[in-house]
Amino acid sequence: MEIKMCLIPGGKTGKAGKLSIKVGDEVKADDILIQVETGKGNRPVKAPQDGVITKILCEEGCQVSSGQILFEMSAHNAEASVQADATGSGKEEALRLNTELLIIGAGPGGYVAAIYGAKKGLKVTLIEKDELGGTCLNTGCIPTKTLVKSAEVFRSMSEASAFGIVTSGPPSVNMERIIRRKEEIRKKLVGGIEGLLQDNNVQVLRGEAAFLSADSVFVRGEKDYVVSACDIIIATGSKISEINIPGINLPVVMNSAQALSCTELPQTITIVGAGIIGMEFAFLYNNLGVKVNVVEFLDRPLAVLDRDISASIRNSAMEAGISISTGSKVLKIQQSEDMQAVVTYEDEKGEHVLVSDKVLVAVGREPNLKGLDLEKAGVALNERGRGVRADSHMRTNVEHIYAIGDVTDILQLAHVASHQGMAAVDHILNGTGEVDYSAIPNVVFTSPEISSVGLTEEDCGKKGIDFSSSTVFYASNGKALTMNEPEGFVKLVRDNATGRIVGGSIIGADAASLVSSLTLAIANGLTDLQVAETVFAHPTTAEVIHEAALGFGVGAIHQS
Ligand SMILES: Cc1cc2nc3c(=O)[nH]c(=O)nc-3n(C[C@H](O)[C@H](O)[C@H](O)COP(=O)(O)OP(=O)(O)OC[C@H]3O[C@@H](n4cnc5c(N)ncnc54)[C@H](O)[C@@H]3O)c2cc1C
Repeated sequence: MEIKMCLIPGGKTGKAGKLSIKVGDEVKADDILIQVETGKGNRPVKAPQDGVITKILCEEGCQVSSGQILFEMSAHNAEASVQADATGSGKEEALRLNTELLIIGAGPGGYVAAIYGAKKGLKVTLIEKDELGGTCLNTGCIPTKTLVKSAEVFRSMSEASAFGIVTSGPPSVNMERIIRRKEEIRKKLVGGIEGLLQDNNVQVLRGEAAFLSADSVFVRGEKDYVVSACDIIIATGSKISEINIPGINLPVVMNSAQALSCTELPQTITIVGAGIIGMEFAFLYNNLGVKVNVVEFLDRPLAVLDRDISASIRNSAMEAGISISTGSKVLKIQQSEDMQAVVTYEDEKGEHVLVSDKVLVAVGREPNLKGLDLEKAGVALNERGRGVRADSHMRTNVEHIYAIGDVTDILQLAHVASHQGMAAVDHILNGTGEVDYSAIPNVVFTSPEISSVGLTEEDCGKKGIDFSSSTVFYASNGKALTMNEPEGFVKLVRDNATGRIVGGSIIGADAASLVSSLTLAIANGLTDLQVAETVFAHPTTAEVIHEAALGFGVGAIHQS
């Protein structure tokens, strides 16, 4: 069996240190055979399993490159097993494996990093304790958007007469079928990822990973494994935060994952939290004909977004019949004898009570660190003590260990997790990968949709940037009128010193898709003039972006 030097970033070489063994020596798995100085610290080369050294192909001081064979050994077992009692598994033995890149967690961070790393030639092992695809595919992005689409179809059918379509009777909702459809889509996507991982030769191990040291993890599953790796990426994501509201565990209370599998459609619901998840559920239930109340602690819904967007979605909610109580703290949830949920909250005017069939609590998620035994690897948490500390290259404080996605608590978005994963792989391979957070798009699937990217006017004010903004309304856009969706606006923010577009917010038809062109403009430092000089197709909702860019100069053509 050959023992090779693992990857040295940037295709560089390392210098071999003192040899601690000779031919014929008995070695145990994980014994350090030699240290190689890589310029980024020492990299130990370890025995992958118990055996006898049969050949030594390097000497002290020699230059060593990635993948170079340094030793040959005769292993005592082809796939040696180790006693696992030290790891407390209760099972007799664990299989010992070696890999170049080990990734813990197969959400959009982990599985994308795995496929990307494999495409770039790395031997990748991916560990997942639950379903492939993580929160995003199973209880997050995709399931919510499947329900959002069903709700939009129902709403469109209810409004069919506005389009000149005559239906024989009012449509009705079959929640069981909606949930079944969601499951079908979820399973199809999970199966697709399984196929992609296979096609790219990513080794997938099923089980829960815990660190044994800075370069090995124990995987507890149907089969137990001890996996040693040159580089490790932590991509364990996030979980629903436990919050301390009396009554939160009552049967009438759901979290977002439970709501996505609930085949009963309530007639009334109270949603705690007007963040992105809370507001998406508010509109989806409302579109399905449910009476919705939202209670929010902060002074406005979607408080992370531009103030005008918050105000606009609040108006849309009011017009749709959704009631939103802001500056309100939920004190307790009770269940009446007839299984009604009773939510007591307080605002500046005093205590109030809301009665509904169900309560949905949508107030935050926290990094998933449980059971990882990070301390055994020496991995530090961030200043808030929430999430793994990672720099812009996604490196943790421990050489060769990276962290990406929700577990870093930087930004809880699927596309950010994937992007960070690819950056981490690039950094492992050649020291180049780095994440720039100045043009990260954010989408909210309310009715109408919302999206934003880059800086808001408020951000510019705080940063002392001399800025201007240009707002153009959808009411002047022909395509939006054909869609019967004339509400909303596009707001662009420009840095006056450079003329560059530094931020954009959209509320209106197609907002989620339109944000990609704004992201391209911001990420590539385009000025308002360059956007204005670009040809936008007609008739499309994208023309509102063009008009907003013109707004910085001569003014929008279709808005006085
Ligand atoms: C209701 C909802 C809607 C959302 N909608 C959107 C949206 O529209 N757009 C968007 O960008 N984002 C959305 N998000 C957020 C998005 O889902 C997350 O940002 C994204 O999934 C994070 O990816 P990740 O890879 O970091 O972690 P996750 O997707 O959470 O995956 C982590 C994986 O690691 C596994 N794992 C954890 N610990 C271990 C261990 N010790 N051993 C082995 N495996 C382990 C978990 O089982 C999980 O599969 C939504 C989230 C929710 C809850």
